Amino acid sequence: MSIMVPSKTPALITSGRQALDSALHQLDQAAEQLGLDDGLRTMLATPRRSLTVSVPVRREDGRLDVVQGFRVQHNVSRGPAKGGLRFHPGTDIHEVTALAMWMTWKCALVGIPYGGAKGGVAVDPAGLTTRELERMTRRYINEILPLIGPEKDIPAPDVGTDEQTMAWIMDTYSVNTGYSVPGVVTGKPMTLGGSLGRTGATSRGVQIAALAALGRSPEGVTVAVQGFGKVGALAAQYLADAGCKVVAVSDVTGAVYAGGGLDVAGLRAWVAESGGVRGFRHADAMAQDELFELDVDVLVPAALEGAITEANAHRIRARLIVEGANGPTTPEADEILAAGGTMVVPDILANAGGVIVSYLEWVQNMQAYSWSSGEVELKLRDLMLNAFTEATSLAAERGLTLRQAAHVIGVGRVAEAHQMRGLYP
Ligand code: GLU
Repeated sequence: MSIMVPSKTPALITSGRQALDSALHQLDQAAEQLGLDDGLRTMLATPRRSLTVSVPVRREDGRLDVVQGFRVQHNVSRGPAKGGLRFHPGTDIHEVTALAMWMTWKCALVGIPYGGAKGGVAVDPAGLTTRELERMTRRYINEILPLIGPEKDIPAPDVGTDEQTMAWIMDTYSVNTGYSVPGVVTGKPMTLGGSLGRTGATSRGVQIAALAALGRSPEGVTVAVQGFGKVGALAAQYLADAGCKVVAVSDVTGAVYAGGGLDVAGLRAWVAESGGVRGFRHADAMAQDELFELDVDVLVPAALEGAITEANAHRIRARLIVEGANGPTTPEADEILAAGGTMVVPDILANAGGVIVSYLEWVQNMQAYSWSSGEVELKLRDLMLNAFTEATSLAAERGLTLRQAAHVIGVGRVAEAHQMRGLYP
């Protein structure tokens, strides 16, 4: 039985099945390039562990609701499973599986010693009070407790979760263990062992990837950002700080445009106050769909899966797309964009900054020692740029898109780990 928790989020339909089909298609293409045999392909196409749980939530008025929760460990051949936890009404087991698979390739591509995982709860967090949210988070974690741990599977923030969620998870796990275990989650508050630079890490990575892909001075480069949440808002800020002109952004409330460049800091303050970009006085209102059709240099999809499809890919005029979100472009759209000469820096590369700094946070936790923000930033930049160079070189060498090349590298490393380890028993 699944009881719907009241939702304030407009119907952002993210078909989990479509996301999984996309992920499987990308894996298939990479497996073909790598010449992997059928058995190994099936290993890589299927998650090693997949858990669905029913989470009872006591509401403030005494009612009992039950929501569905998931944790999928797609692969653990290169290290502990790693990946975010999503609270969104549209999430399902297929979506979480796709996202877990992308985490596996992402960690392998940027060379950090993790497998891939993802968690999700099919709930709209905006429809719960803070206390309801805390109870639900703790109960969900309790249900998946046997799966997680600093050496096993390490959750982190994703859509609809934040450092407060991670603090509750760290506490729930630690209370069950009997001592504090900061390394069980990343993206924690600083007081609980969080890392400097983690909050903006995904966005910083998007900025690094965008500037590397541009290959020219960012001065005056025009940018549109779809999604003005945790990733999109700071990506817009960092790109503006670097000299780009962010002319348009959108979120679930609407879209705003300013040809001369938006005051991104002012817009972030407006969003903090009003809850969305709509109504920002220093810009023109625009339909959300129009954002994709703008004549800009760079488009940053930073919301959910399936934003760029065969229905709108033809109309995209940006020459460069940098994917802040996971899975924003469908394979059909990818083909249209490639045929039209649009360069796409794929999710597993462009948004890897988050998990890179998660890794740095975990390393600091494991050695009980913290680094300066400069050290973190330097390591993030190094890992991002190494992966970018490797992917662009392979793409040029084999005539692949950047997504195909990134997958060949990621999938290839995981396949190699499987081959070296062999099969037990
Ligand atoms: N949720 C982020 C992602 O999709 C971060 C995951 C992590 O830090 O483990 O990459």
